[in-house]
Amino acid sequence: MNVYDSDRMADVLAPLGYGLVETPEHADMVILNTCHIREKAAEKVYSELGRLRLLKNAREQDGGQMILAVAGCVAQAEGEEILDRAPYVDIVFGPQTYHRLGEMVARASRAGAKGARVLDTDFPTEAKFDHLPANTKGARDGDGRTAFLTVQEGCDKFCAFCVVPYTRGAEYSRPAADVLAEAARLAEGGVREITLLGQNVNNYHGAEPHAHDEPDAVWGLGRLIAAVAEIGGVERIRYTTSYPADVDEDLINAHAQVPALMPFLHLPVQSGSDTVLKAMNRRHNADDYRRLVDRLRAARPDLGLSSDFIVGFPGETDDDFATTMKLVEEIGFVQAYSFKYSPRPGTPAALMDTQVDEAVKSERLAALQDLLNAQQRAFNQPCIGQTLDVLLDRAGRDPGQLVGRSPYMQAVHVDGVGLELGTIVGLRITAGHANSLTGVLAGANTERATA
Ligand code: SAH
Repeated sequence: MNVYDSDRMADVLAPLGYGLVETPEHADMVILNTCHIREKAAEKVYSELGRLRLLKNAREQDGGQMILAVAGCVAQAEGEEILDRAPYVDIVFGPQTYHRLGEMVARASRAGAKGARVLDTDFPTEAKFDHLPANTKGARDGDGRTAFLTVQEGCDKFCAFCVVPYTRGAEYSRPAADVLAEAARLAEGGVREITLLGQNVNNYHGAEPHAHDEPDAVWGLGRLIAAVAEIGGVERIRYTTSYPADVDEDLINAHAQVPALMPFLHLPVQSGSDTVLKAMNRRHNADDYRRLVDRLRAARPDLGLSSDFIVGFPGETDDDFATTMKLVEEIGFVQAYSFKYSPRPGTPAALMDTQVDEAVKSERLAALQDLLNAQQRAFNQPCIGQTLDVLLDRAGRDPGQLVGRSPYMQAVHVDGVGLELGTIVGLRITAGHANSLTGVLAGANTERATA
């Protein structure tokens, strides 16, 4: 979502004459787009700001100016504190305000060295989408063939560990007509794969495109996916992130019926222990998750699953953790993200007096990651010798090399001679590495040495 937001900030600033540069050294403005989800991410902001301050000073000594801005959820949560701790920062703005970035920049640059500073952390989600310029470029993976498209923002779930409801505000779904128009513009611009985004994307309930007769009529995510799939040029659809209790029949049917919907789903479970899930205020238990996975796999037997896990949530015992390991063994994930619980200011779990020892968290995380990594290898290894459909979406590091994604989000490298960016090609996989695969064009008879 931060990638999408950063891209849209660039759209807002383009009419003012700003364009993207690769490095901050000679930039007229640097925007640090930040994440508040775990403490480590939030802390990075201040160390990064310290480095940027030196560049800003150097520019000013040369008679130039560098506007320094902090965006995103750390800005939302710690606005005043950032202005106190980093007095050289010119603008601090939250994730729902960047449609006003032009004004903010104008105010900050007028103020110049005199030091008038701008803080904007309002929550007008709807207004933001109404006032953003059209999004025309793809942004997910480099060369504009894959794009994120935010369809839903904010969250009303209030998981006991999570800051999102506080930093991104209440749930809001964009009208389906707006989403379809943005998807069509992306496809016209060469995007072949769209990832529909939301903090709680499968609780999407946007106004129907032709809702004049029934103003309250809404589409769910399943219906939206089916409509996006009809747009010419859109060959692949994904969505993230889903809340298990909000997966409905329509969405499961979309997995069975919409061929463009990729057979890969990120479905965060967080824990395998019912006690912990209850304390987290999740609205599913471990068996609900198992049953849901069964239904999804019945709809789409080749579905690959990804998930998020938190270890060391307050009160988590060895037995609780063992049930998480058991759940992972039973389900089998093609990849996953796992984190040590990180207390976040203002969330209920941060105040619980049953915090788990740091060393115990580390031990559990290592054990869980060993298991998840083994599952990822077990999924990737048998791909060798098989042919995967790969959407070539960016240039590789080696000359002439192209990189793309398989349906399961595996990165696949290939010698790009005679191949075109933005096309889906069948690649026979010749080698597997820690985080990627290598392939050759299926049917090509030149056997290549593999790394
Ligand atoms: N609604 C989004 C939230 C994004 S946060 C979603 O469900 O994906 C992504 C992941 O970060 C969460 O699923 C959770 O596993 C992890 N996370 C969130 N808050 C955390 C915290 N306080 N400590 C550790 N991990 C956390």
